[in-house]
Amino acid sequence: TIGILAIDKKGDISGACTTSGMAYKYAGRVGDSPIIGAGLFVDNEIGAATATGVGEEVVRTVGSFLIVELMRQGKSPQEACEEGVKRIMSKNKGRTDFQIGFIAINKKGETGGYCIQPGFTYRTYSEEGHMNNPSESFLKS
Ligand code: ASP
Repeated sequence: TIGILAIDKKGDISGACTTSGMAYKYAGRVGDSPIIGAGLFVDNEIGAATATGVGEEVVRTVGSFLIVELMRQGKSPQEACEEGVKRIMSKNKGRTDFQIGFIAINKKGETGGYCIQPGFTYRTYSEEGHMNNPSESFLKS
């Protein structure tokens, strides 16, 4: 999945995501990406989040909505992504052998991202087109 979150000069937030879905998926499977609240959620009062990984787990926890709600409760985007990932892990008896990752942005333009497994990176781009180095944040067990 590729997820994109943006904030403009006025502080308006938007997001998008696209995916090829899981490998070997059944015909007709619907993953998380096309479901608002699961693979993507934007609340212009709070922030936005988007997900990658095993869509069934993200749908089950309404994952991107969860991340935005955690930010509404005062968590930073980074804290919200970490708590969301850990919430999904706890529903899977602490398993870490599958991928779930989120990125998030809040109304201040702060960003965060977190994933169960390595190999998940995200970048931030500034108005001038400057790009930071890829940020990698994952569960280190
Ligand atoms: N989230 C996608 C899905 O479950 C898979 C992916 O991240 O590529 O369809």
